[in-house]
Amino acid sequence: MTLDPRTFFAGDYFEGRGKFLIAADARGLKHTAYLNPHAKGPKGEDLTIDVAILGPDDAKAGLLVISGTHGVEGYAGSGAQVGWLKSTRNANWPGGLKLVMVHALNPYGFAWNRRVNEENVDLNRNFVDHAKPYPQNPGYELLKSAIAPHDLKAGTIDVADHALRAYAKEHGAFALQEAISQGQYAHPDGMYFGGTREQCSAGEILHIVRREFAHADRVGIVDIHTGLGAYGYGEIITEDEASDPRYARTHRWWGDVRSTRAGESVSAQVLGSIDSGLIAALPHAEVTVGALEFGTYPTLEVFRGLRADNWLHVLGDPLGPDAPAVKAEIRRAFYPDKDDWKEMVWKRSEQVLNQAVEALAAG
Ligand SMILES: [Zn+2]
Repeated sequence: MTLDPRTFFAGDYFEGRGKFLIAADARGLKHTAYLNPHAKGPKGEDLTIDVAILGPDDAKAGLLVISGTHGVEGYAGSGAQVGWLKSTRNANWPGGLKLVMVHALNPYGFAWNRRVNEENVDLNRNFVDHAKPYPQNPGYELLKSAIAPHDLKAGTIDVADHALRAYAKEHGAFALQEAISQGQYAHPDGMYFGGTREQCSAGEILHIVRREFAHADRVGIVDIHTGLGAYGYGEIITEDEASDPRYARTHRWWGDVRSTRAGESVSAQVLGSIDSGLIAALPHAEVTVGALEFGTYPTLEVFRGLRADNWLHVLGDPLGPDAPAVKAEIRRAFYPDKDDWKEMVWKRSEQVLNQAVEALAAG
């Protein structure tokens, strides 16, 4: 039976969760739901992180696949997880290997079409030591009112865009991307805010990997994202220096891998990433980690969607008259919802996950 990749993808978090649970169940995975105690969906629904597990408890090697670290980016990751569970091409799961699939690590963001969580926190900037002074981001400080303006009126946005363009002209476009997206810990109402305490989802994922991979010597991690790069193209991003053995390993597993630290990637170097947190949580294991980042639309369009959404939730009304247009814009920025895009996401995800399984099974 040929599977139609379009059917893997969902229209919202709730449909995605349903598809994931059905596919996980059909494949014989054990499922646990972790309720988010701090937030509800747009209609008051419960929100859960769902974890499905296959393979022996004391496995020596395992693969972790995460979707929805950035909420609204979860459409792609959820589709990839569902497709992978349904695909018969990988029916012969290597016996000693453990598979841990985490669906919607940030369920609030997925359900509300936000990149951040219920505390306006970017989870992928939250894995810092909260007992220590937070890193500074001088570029963000300089541009904060242009990055997160007080309203969305045309005049305000023109002034904001002018300031951003001037910064890019002086320092380069990548420096602008870095200032905006590297992460900041000083403005809870701003963008790319890393939080000033460990978020619930961050604590959960650390707990899950410590428990599930307690016996593992080798762990592979694929965290699926969208919004950076060329339409439908899936770049594997590592944060490792070129001299790190992990960098060489990611290349052996996946071939073309781009490092943020070497300035090769569509992504800027970021602070407090989930990759760094998960690697630190598994000191006993050889961890190989890649963020699989799918491009959607041009960076500026994506940024405008994020900026409007930040305004809507911080200063506007997420259920008010401005919401439908803003929500359509941000959803489209991270989930094109087109057949060709879904097909590209599925094919690339399947390839990346199968390469990881092969590498782990080979030992
Ligand atoms: Zn992301």
